[in-house]
Amino acid sequence: MLKLRIGLDIDGVVADSFPVFLRELNKHYGKDVKQLDTYDMTEIYGVEWDEMSQFFHDNMEYLFLTPKPMTGAVEGINYILETGHEIVYVTARAPGSEEKMTCKWFDDNNIYRDKACFTGGLSKTFAVKENGIDIFVDDFMTNALEIASLGVPVLLMDSPYNQGKLPQGVTRCYCWDEILCQIDQLSRSKNVMNRGTP
Ligand SMILES: [Mg+2]
Repeated sequence: MLKLRIGLDIDGVVADSFPVFLRELNKHYGKDVKQLDTYDMTEIYGVEWDEMSQFFHDNMEYLFLTPKPMTGAVEGINYILETGHEIVYVTARAPGSEEKMTCKWFDDNNIYRDKACFTGGLSKTFAVKENGIDIFVDDFMTNALEIASLGVPVLLMDSPYNQGKLPQGVTRCYCWDEILCQIDQLSRSKNVMNRGTP
């Protein structure tokens, strides 16, 4: 079995952040949004990015520390490590205070976090290439398409905001068990071996 370097997004893959974000944004803006149909929360709440950004900044500790891990994520991460693969987190969260708070969340929840890249909203492709990532798990369609275009297989965690047809190289997964099955399959596939993983 081939040992893989697995890239994991954080929000919506490892941390169940959006229910907490929605609850707090609903309170703040006096709305009753039940689910995210688009990834762009500024569009849903009809506010400028700067304003929402300030809200996140002012409430970062609560917003980043309150979410629970996604169902199956803790067990999934442990399984990945036990089967000998490596994990690199790549998140659009920013370096600095967001990074510090994120690391605290991982520690509070006893989740392994050896290597993490904080892109600060920039494309994840650079970090994926730089870290020699073999397979990536994300929930944001734009990231999935960009990373798949590098030839890196992507597992897309299903959510209301990422519906639609998927190109080759992107596989929709409905839960962490499916993600683990896909990783197992890929680690046995000749395609990856022939790709010359570093
Ligand atoms: Mg995400």
